[in-house]
Amino acid sequence: MAVQTIDNTTEATPDTGPAFGPAVALSCRECGERVPLGPVFACQECFGPLEVAYDLPTGDPEALRKQIESGPANIWRYAPLLPVPADVVDKPNLNPGWTKLVKADNLARELGVTGGLYVKDDSGNPTHSFKDRVVAIALEAARTFGLKTLSCSSTGNLAGAAEAAAARAGFRSCVFIPHDLEAGKVVMAAVYGGELVGIEGNYDDVNRFCSELIGDPIGEDWGFVNVNLRPYYGEGSKTLAYEICEQLGWRLPDQIVIPIASGSQLTKIDKGLQELIKLGLVEEKPYKIYGAQAEGCSPVSAAFKAGHDVVRPVKPDTIAKSLAIGNPADGPYVLDIARRTGGAVEDVTDEQCVAAIKLLARTEGIFAETAGGVTVGVLKKLIETGQLDPALETVVLNTGDGLKTLDAVAPTTGPTAVIRPTLAAFREAGLA
Ligand SMILES: *Cc1c(COP(=O)(O)O)cnc(C)c1O
Ligand SMILES: [Zn+2]
Repeated sequence: MAVQTIDNTTEATPDTGPAFGPAVALSCRECGERVPLGPVFACQECFGPLEVAYDLPTGDPEALRKQIESGPANIWRYAPLLPVPADVVDKPNLNPGWTKLVKADNLARELGVTGGLYVKDDSGNPTHSFKDRVVAIALEAARTFGLKTLSCSSTGNLAGAAEAAAARAGFRSCVFIPHDLEAGKVVMAAVYGGELVGIEGNYDDVNRFCSELIGDPIGEDWGFVNVNLRPYYGEGSKTLAYEICEQLGWRLPDQIVIPIASGSQLTKIDKGLQELIKLGLVEEKPYKIYGAQAEGCSPVSAAFKAGHDVVRPVKPDTIAKSLAIGNPADGPYVLDIARRTGGAVEDVTDEQCVAAIKLLARTEGIFAETAGGVTVGVLKKLIETGQLDPALETVVLNTGDGLKTLDAVAPTTGPTAVIRPTLAAFREAGLA
């Protein structure tokens, strides 16, 4: 099926074929208009973003819980809640997810968190970032729609995740990144053998270029995981919410601190928590959602602090390149969620990000990429400024592996000493 725009909105009857599991339609987040499931992302009535609407399983939550628990140790254990076919486990993909939820007692002690602190460590995914989750769902949609080329606009991690998934699934791939990304991310995107194009510009330029490509005949049969497949892509982030609650013993934490690039992950984690409540899989209780940005790209944090409902685009300048989206598509929804749940959006400087990377490494043995540094740094700042109650149970996300952003810590990290291989030299170095 070629990439199409919506043209039959009003008389749309949902396509409830088995290819999309419990998903029944796409619905507009702004006006509620429903359209059939397809490779489309914007409402033709109001240009609002489309998201996947479900007819979720009703009935005994205990039976659903058992079904999930007996599923595979990856995101497909939640297939009954995702827009994927029931036989998704049998298809070639990278099977991401079911990453560790680490009880972070040492970090809690340093930060003064008394209510319990967990790190959801998504660096353990196949390409070492949370992006494998979102790509896996988009890939299934691309398969169903018969799209031939897997593509994306990326700040780095998504390019690697898409290229790896395409390699395994036998798709042609061609992905687009800003030309000046970290070496680790460029290599990790290129090694899978697909096409990788560096664009002379920042992420927002890359994204604009991809939108143009979609409208051109060149882009026919292309599945851009985060553009025309964005509604499906977004659903992958819900699995973070599902896993956190299941790993806590099927209950909600009191609060979660989440990094923000486009804001998709944060909004879909909230969607996932709401679904668990609706399904009766967890007991309902209030929870707070906090968002984390780097000061050098903090349009959502700035809007939150100013009390604005709209997000004013910025030109990013930060070492946290995976979060460097100056015009975040889901920014206004992030503001809604932070305000509705009683959370907040905060930002930290690059120096605070680096310090937080080292703090997490030193206390818990987890080496985070800059996005994780931003998130842990923001957690620290939220406590210090009294915006987050340390007596409540808290989950903080680490969404990527520190090996991808070595440059962030390399200048201030190295051997304690370099010595000749003799005991005398070791004593001289003052380390004995
Ligand atoms: C993409 C990304 C995020 C969040 O992205 P959203 O666009 O807000 O969903 C967070 N951390 C890392 C490491 C990422 O690559
Ligand atoms: Zn609409």
